[in-house]
Amino acid sequence: MQKEAVVKIRTLEDAVDRCQALGMRLSRQRRFVLELLWQAKEHLSAREIYDRLNQQGKAIGHTSVYQNLEALSSQDIIECIERSDGRLYGNISDSHSHVNCLDTNQILDVDVELPEPLLREIEQQTGVRITDYSINFYGYRQLKE
Ligand SMILES: [Zn+2]
Repeated sequence: MQKEAVVKIRTLEDAVDRCQALGMRLSRQRRFVLELLWQAKEHLSAREIYDRLNQQGKAIGHTSVYQNLEALSSQDIIECIERSDGRLYGNISDSHSHVNCLDTNQILDVDVELPEPLLREIEQQTGVRITDYSINFYGYRQLKE
């Protein structure tokens, strides 16, 4: 399958534009969810998103949070990570790498570019032409000096 060249979503405004371009209705609740993910810049569960919005005094029900997360992630406007303990959602929808912190269970976004020779080597080993990749790193917090 050929991947289409889609403009990358880099800001909250880009995400809103993408919704509009797709003809998705931008309800107040949908905007709340998008705004929160772009403010938080973390990977959050639906439960955490619900809690934070309500702490901010934004009236939104459980069902609405779940439905909006489903709609936004199925259109690739937000990120959805499947974990054994449930789904997490993030603001960056295009491919990126993750640093998984084993102390805190946090997942941090990082952009990693592998050197061309390494990519060519992997292609030679597998016979697959690499068009995209994302890497999972795992480790423990380092104490800063
Ligand atoms: Zn991410």
